Amino acid sequence: MANRVLQSLFLCFLLYSCSQLEKAEEFIAGLPPEEQYKKDENISDEIFEIWQNRKQKGLDESLQIELPYLESGTFKPRNFGIYSYETYMMPGEILEAEVITDSSSTLVFTDIYKKEPSSESFYKVHSGDAVQKVLKFEIKEKGLYKLIFQPEIEANTPFQIKIQRSPAYTFPVAEGENSDIGSYWGDIRDGGKREHKGIDIFATRGTPVLAAVEGRIRFSGEKGLGGKQVWLWDRRRKQSLYYAHLDSIVPDIKKVKAGDTLGFVGNTGNAEFTPSHLHFGIYKKGQGAVDPLGYVHLPGHIGDENISKEEFSERLTIATHKAGLRKKPSSSNSKLIKTGVIGEILYVQGKSTEWFHVRDSQDRPMFIHESQVKSVN
Ligand SMILES: [Zn+2]
Repeated sequence: MANRVLQSLFLCFLLYSCSQLEKAEEFIAGLPPEEQYKKDENISDEIFEIWQNRKQKGLDESLQIELPYLESGTFKPRNFGIYSYETYMMPGEILEAEVITDSSSTLVFTDIYKKEPSSESFYKVHSGDAVQKVLKFEIKEKGLYKLIFQPEIEANTPFQIKIQRSPAYTFPVAEGENSDIGSYWGDIRDGGKREHKGIDIFATRGTPVLAAVEGRIRFSGEKGLGGKQVWLWDRRRKQSLYYAHLDSIVPDIKKVKAGDTLGFVGNTGNAEFTPSHLHFGIYKKGQGAVDPLGYVHLPGHIGDENISKEEFSERLTIATHKAGLRKKPSSSNSKLIKTGVIGEILYVQGKSTEWFHVRDSQDRPMFIHESQVKSVN
C-alpha cells in the first residue's frame, strides 16, 4: 500500500517536473518572433498563413539595389506588403538596415539571407529586432545577400527603409579617402607571376599610418619585400593586419586602439621605385590573405535630399510609350523586366529618389522612373 502511494507520488512528481521543464524550455528558447507575434495578437491561422506566404514570395523575388538605399512610402493595414532587395556585399562590410515609422509601436520583421554559392537558394544568416526595427550584421563571406522587410499585418503608418553599409575598420591612412586607393586585390604583379594580396593607398611621404582596429602589435621592423612593416593582430576576427613600405615606425608600440599612429607612409622594401603608399593587407588565421577592401572602403552618404517628403497615390498609370520596368532603380546597368503599355495600372510600394517601387497586375515587383507614370485618383 505504502509502496503504491510512493509510486503514484513519484509519477505525479515526474509529470509535474516534465510539464515544468517544457515551460522552462519554451521560456528559455522563446517562440520564433513571428509565432510570438501571432500569439500576442491572436491572429487566425488563415490570415497568418497569407502573411507567411508573402514572406516566401519575398524570398523568390529579386529587386536589386546599391547601397546606401533609402525608400519611403506608407504601410497599409492588410496590404500584406513585402519588401525584398538583393545587394552584393564584401567581408568587413557592416550592413545596417533600419525602418523608421511614424507609429513607434509598429512591428517590422527584417531578415538577411545569403545566396548559396552553387545554387539559386538563399539561407538566413541573421534577423533584426522587430520592435526596434533595426538589423546590423558584419559580412564575413562575400556574395549576394537578400534583405526582406515585412510589416505586421495591421501596420498603418508612413515609413522609411534605410539600408547602409559601413566598413568594420578605421581607414588606415590619416585623412585618406577611397580615391587614394590606387591598386586593388588581385591586380597583376611581376608580369603575371603573382597577384596583389592587398590594396595600395597612396599618400605623401610622412602621412600617419593608423591602427584600423584595436589590437596587439605582433611584429614591427624591416624585412623582405614589405620593407618597414607592422603586423597588427585583430583578436576578435582572428586575423592580422599587414602594413608595408613605411618610411618609419613608431617605436615600442605594443597595444593600440583604432586610430592610433603606427608609423608614416613611405616607399621602403620593393616600393623604392613607386610613389609613396601604404600596402595594406589582411591575413586570416587558417585561411591566408583576404581582400581587405570591404573593411576600409568608406560608405556613400544618404543625404536629406534623398528623403522624399511628397505624398503619392497608391496606384499609378503608365503615361509614356515604352516605359521601362526595371530590376534596379537606375536606367544604366539595370535589367529591363518588361516594357509597360500606356494605361497599365501599377501598385505603389514606395519611392526611392526618382524611382517608384511598384508591383504590376501579376504582383511582380519592379522599379519605374517617375517621368513615365502619373497618379490614379
Ligand atoms: Zn601593394
